[in-house]
Amino acid sequence: LPEQEAFDIEYWLLEEAKLQRMPKPKALAGRVAIVTGGAGGIGSATAERMLKDGACVVLADIDGKAAADVAAGMAKVFGADVIRSVAMNVTDEAQVIAAYAEVAVEFGGVDILVSNAGIASSAPVEETSLALWNKNMDILSTGYFLVSREAFKVLRKQNIGGSVIFVASKNGLAASPNASAYCTAKAAEIHLARCLALEGAEAGIRVNVVNPDAVLRGSKIWAGEWLDQRASTYKTDKEGLEEMYRQRSMLKRSVLPEDIAEGVYFFASELSAKSTGNILNVDAGNVQAFTR
Ligand code: NAD
Repeated sequence: LPEQEAFDIEYWLLEEAKLQRMPKPKALAGRVAIVTGGAGGIGSATAERMLKDGACVVLADIDGKAAADVAAGMAKVFGADVIRSVAMNVTDEAQVIAAYAEVAVEFGGVDILVSNAGIASSAPVEETSLALWNKNMDILSTGYFLVSREAFKVLRKQNIGGSVIFVASKNGLAASPNASAYCTAKAAEIHLARCLALEGAEAGIRVNVVNPDAVLRGSKIWAGEWLDQRASTYKTDKEGLEEMYRQRSMLKRSVLPEDIAEGVYFFASELSAKSTGNILNVDAGNVQAFTR
């Protein structure tokens, strides 16, 4: 190579190496995210993932004290100016509206909604009371509708697009024994996401779904009644259940809250700029496997 050309290449390589070493702007810098059920296992892991990438996050949870405690812990790591908590029952229309008003005052708007607040319940259909059926529909389907309706109002007004992510469940696609109310409510969440994706597309509002498989570690759901009911349905204990889910999956791996958080992060960020109305199963290959 002529001397000048060799010099140019060396110079270019050095400049490139310098660029690689420079701190990159964080992908969610300047974005505000509301995470419902933010005091729980998946919600708090998701909040942490988005905080790491520069977002301001509001943990909205029916358990306001737990949300405040989780937020206080995150404030120590990420700074008090980027995290807030609010007590909010997703089934209470007035509380949901008030929470969005509070977030507007605190952070000036919303760019990302992670609708994740939830419960799980199990009973054979003959033993499913109307109250239990309605509870599932209220918290899961209606709750997801209310929080996303309010998000849509803000996002349309801001007119700069946005991302809504539903943490649904693989049980919204596949049947699970003795859980008809839960499965049906989760299926409604998934279809609501498709409908909202269509409604929001023109305004650049993307709506996507992350479906977890069973996430036993870190989840409060798996510390209560649901655990006893699942253990009785499958005649095993918590460790046995975790192993059962692991063995059923194609990858033979357990799913953790952090895995779900990565899926949510994908839809929250511009990495998924061309995805809407989509479903990401974070299930180690369980939904598509014929191993049960
Ligand atoms: P979790 O119990 O650890 O967290 C759920 C959070 O939601 C809790 O902090 C709870 O206080 C809150 N919450 C419950 N009802 C509420 C209401 N009415 N209004 C506001 N907040 C409310 O459970 P998780 O495992 O983190 O579950 C999060 C979501 O993931 C749920 O929607 C759940 O159905 C879904 N999911 C979980 C699993 C799993 O195995 N953990 C599997 C599939 C889907």
